Amino acid sequence: MRTVVTKFGGTSMADADKFRQVAHIIREDPDRRYVVVSAPGKRFKGDFKITDMFYLCYEKAEAGENIDVLFDEISGRYNAIIDELGLNISLDREFQRIRNGMYNMTGRDYAASRGEYLNAKILAAYLHYDFIDAREVIFFNNDGTFNAEYTNDVLSARLKRHERAVFPGFYGAMPNGTIKTFSRGGSDITGSIVARAAGAELYENWTDVSGFLMADPRIVDDPKIIKTITYRELRELSYMGATVLHEDAIFPVQIAGIPINIKNTDRPQDRGTMIVADTPEYDTKNVITGIAGRKGFTAINISKDLMNVEVGFGRRVLGILEKKKISFEHLPSGIDTMSVIVKNSELSGKLDYVLNGIQQEACPDSVSVEDGIALIAVVGRAMVKSKGTAAKVFKAIAEADVNVKMIDQGSDELNIIIGIDEEDFEKTIRAIYAEFIRG
Ligand code: ADP
Ligand code: ASP
Ligand code: MG
Repeated sequence: MRTVVTKFGGTSMADADKFRQVAHIIREDPDRRYVVVSAPGKRFKGDFKITDMFYLCYEKAEAGENIDVLFDEISGRYNAIIDELGLNISLDREFQRIRNGMYNMTGRDYAASRGEYLNAKILAAYLHYDFIDAREVIFFNNDGTFNAEYTNDVLSARLKRHERAVFPGFYGAMPNGTIKTFSRGGSDITGSIVARAAGAELYENWTDVSGFLMADPRIVDDPKIIKTITYRELRELSYMGATVLHEDAIFPVQIAGIPINIKNTDRPQDRGTMIVADTPEYDTKNVITGIAGRKGFTAINISKDLMNVEVGFGRRVLGILEKKKISFEHLPSGIDTMSVIVKNSELSGKLDYVLNGIQQEACPDSVSVEDGIALIAVVGRAMVKSKGTAAKVFKAIAEADVNVKMIDQGSDELNIIIGIDEEDFEKTIRAIYAEFIRG
């Protein structure tokens, strides 16, 4: 028998109708033996994700506020799913335990993780599949990093005892047993971990779009679907804001060479996107695979005459960031200038320290700070084989009357990164997309 691991995102699990559709998809193919679920997402525009409600609940409990109304709303959503599916189960004891956990400060991650925990319990009962709690099979190290090999050993041994099972996504356990979550959207990572441990032939990631699109559908109207994309291209795009798959989700499947298929729960007949290790196939007309971007970056621009011959200048600047545990994104440089591009969230509350440190340890002629920067990544495995891609990107940007603040190209020629003003973000993405799609 083949093994296919399926992961269903929040919108695919938002209410009882969605559960029915998910169960229909799983039952259609007996190879779909292991299922990973997110917490229920939004049912309609303006609705709340259960995960966000749990975070809010925890914050209220932490502030000493009463959480009863909010908690009843959360349990009400699960009970509606149970009732409408006609299931003969009750999660009341679980609700009671979780509510107490909130007041007893069992942890923010514990609170957030309950969204997937409860959802997996319901789906397991509905499908008559086993339930496997992620805290028993997914492990983190003491420093909070994911313990991949230990997890793989324990989980693959455990799977041998279960022909079919449902797992809650998003979380695992610390060495002392407390719950820790991945970052937001982390159920995609759980799906990939289970696929590796199961030695699956395929990891299906079911969501609310018919595949990975060439650009964010909230910015570009009806973008084209990417038929095939490599792990590395996908990581570049998802890191830069194409949120359809978590950027760390490729690592477990990459080790085992398992392809990922992004599929639409509402349109299972659509082929979706295949994510593979490598492929010779590419669209000779478009050349690029996709475009993504993010707002919220700051540039620290440093200049000093003869910087080019001052051995150790760069190390001194980066040493200051390291002391404050700040990671940087890009380091464009000239002969006597160097810029460090950093996420605003990394710099928050630390900028003064960084600027003083640069003054004292690197003695520059000048330092300036520019915030409100957006980065856009144009990604494509075919760029290395074709000429004129950069020219097309910059023609589009110039025609859109946008000023480029930074340009960077990865050494593997997989991407071109452009820094622009945040206010030009959407129009630049649209302009680049139009230039390539026009051909
Ligand atoms: P799920 O709840 O299934 O995990 P997500 O909300 O995490 O789903 O991801 C799917 C959403 O990602 C889509 O609804 C879409 O709005 C957004 N998105 C952003 N960029 C892209 C892209 N390039 N391709 C497809 N979807 C994208
Ligand atoms: N429920 C979690 C979140 O909202 C994890 C996930 O959906 O993948 O981030
Ligand atoms: Mg997601």
